[in-house]
Amino acid sequence: MVLKCYNYDIVCQEVPGEISLALNISGCPNHCKGCHSPWLWKDEGVVIDERFLGLLINKYSSAITCICFMGGDRDTAEINNLAEFIKKNYKSIKVAWYSGLELIPKSVNLLFFDYIKIGPYIEEKGGLDSKTTNQKFFKVLSDGSLEHLPFYK
Ligand code: SF4
Repeated sequence: MVLKCYNYDIVCQEVPGEISLALNISGCPNHCKGCHSPWLWKDEGVVIDERFLGLLINKYSSAITCICFMGGDRDTAEINNLAEFIKKNYKSIKVAWYSGLELIPKSVNLLFFDYIKIGPYIEEKGGLDSKTTNQKFFKVLSDGSLEHLPFYK
């Protein structure tokens, strides 16, 4: 299944220490209550393929250190393919993924990622900046193990 980019932006908050080009991916299957971006439930936008990613990275490479996929849970194998493409072709660019899934899917090879956020949005528990959040943000270490980085300060 193709994944589509609803829009994108350069951001500093999503991945600590990185300037990220965040791609908001449409077609989110999670439908969390209180979702901050319900417009991402629809299947619309530009198809994210290697050509699209290459054009974006070439355009913004002097300004960014990371590509952050925001969503893409409806096809995690495709997220993995896109991360692999970046890792193999743009070695200085880090790869982050914000997923609303409960667990990291088996289709994902952690070695293609530098950061992964996991967990659906639960209104009562709040997002990553909440002390009570269910969501977890991990740094992927070079051996593929995960270091939990609490966002709440
Ligand atoms: S995963 Fe994110 S975009 Fe998708 S429904 Fe939940 S809060 Fe909204």
